[in-house]
Amino acid sequence: MIHVTIYNEFLHEQNNEKIRAIYPDGIHMCIKRFLECDDISVKTITLEDVQNGISDELLKGTDVMLWWGHMAHEKVPDEVAKKVQQEVLSGMGIIFLHSGHHSKPFRLLMGTSCNLTWREDGDYERVWVVKPAHPIARGLGRFIYIPEVETYGEPFDVPEPDVTVFIGGYEGGEVFRSGLCYRRGNGKIFYFQPGHESFPIYKIPDVQTVIRNAVRWAYPDGRAAIDCPHVTKPGTEG
Ligand code: ZN
Repeated sequence: MIHVTIYNEFLHEQNNEKIRAIYPDGIHMCIKRFLECDDISVKTITLEDVQNGISDELLKGTDVMLWWGHMAHEKVPDEVAKKVQQEVLSGMGIIFLHSGHHSKPFRLLMGTSCNLTWREDGDYERVWVVKPAHPIARGLGRFIYIPEVETYGEPFDVPEPDVTVFIGGYEGGEVFRSGLCYRRGNGKIFYFQPGHESFPIYKIPDVQTVIRNAVRWAYPDGRAAIDCPHVTKPGTEG
């Protein structure tokens, strides 16, 4: 069984009628519905839940976390971000969605500004598959077509990824590294650009395929704290 926890700040859907019409019970519930299956169980948490902290029990019991945040990154307590970062280092997988590029845990894990260029003109995007044999691209064609998106453009200030799975190309001509894989410590990290809240992007079957594949890819190979013990020379114990 793969235990997934979805964090969604869940503010746009409550504060904006147009967005509520797309995701009446929140982006997290939309993702939960298409992810849950015989071997994937999903818990969801929102900003309200994490504002007083996040339990060790929840993190230790999470194989893969998904992170969607936008307007309230700063309201996520530093201790929560630090705990998530540490859990990734010990092996928990994590997927950062769309505007999660500016979330505290993503910035901690990347160590850079994670800045990019952006505009919201409802451009279409073609998300080109540049690594067709990668497990996250399984079941896709040459590209994913998204009729309306928020445009993100390079430069995207992140460290050079281990693998670039997708490159987005937009109506305006911009390009963006839309699907990036990293390892930090024992943990696997995937960043996926599509997912702006004003368009029903998480209802697109190919987008759902990517997220399903990414959860399986990010499942931990193993889990071990990365500590720094002082030891004795082998054979001299006792
Ligand atoms: Zn957005």
